[in-house]
Amino acid sequence: MRLQSVAGAGRRWRENVTEVKIAGCCTCCDELCFEVLARWDTHERYPGEPKRLGPPMNDATRVTFLLYDGSRADFTFCGKCAESLNPGQYTDIWRKTLRSFLREMSETARPWWNTQLQNGILAEMGRINWSDLNG
Ligand SMILES: [Zn+2]
Repeated sequence: MRLQSVAGAGRRWRENVTEVKIAGCCTCCDELCFEVLARWDTHERYPGEPKRLGPPMNDATRVTFLLYDGSRADFTFCGKCAESLNPGQYTDIWRKTLRSFLREMSETARPWWNTQLQNGILAEMGRINWSDLNG
């Protein structure tokens, strides 16, 4: 019984990590983390998605991670996802990042992308509220 409820929580989490990252949105749930000044037109590359971003939302958080290869990467989360962020989510977040790269990169970047399959998020190094960065 208890095991079931734990597994259920895991499934719910995975459903909350959407397919690809959208510009200006939370890395996990796609909630807007910045005001949108302009969106891609219907005939453009990413119809309806944010094209130009304004100031951050109040609780938008920038989290800096250490990756396996020693480099660092910044991800943006909404306040709710930043608060509940834990290492058990790192794999899903990295997979979503890889899918996003695949959507946006040119074919010439493919060799670099292949090396990222072995990379991943190792640990959080710090976080800051986007509003404090822009203040
Ligand atoms: Zn979120």
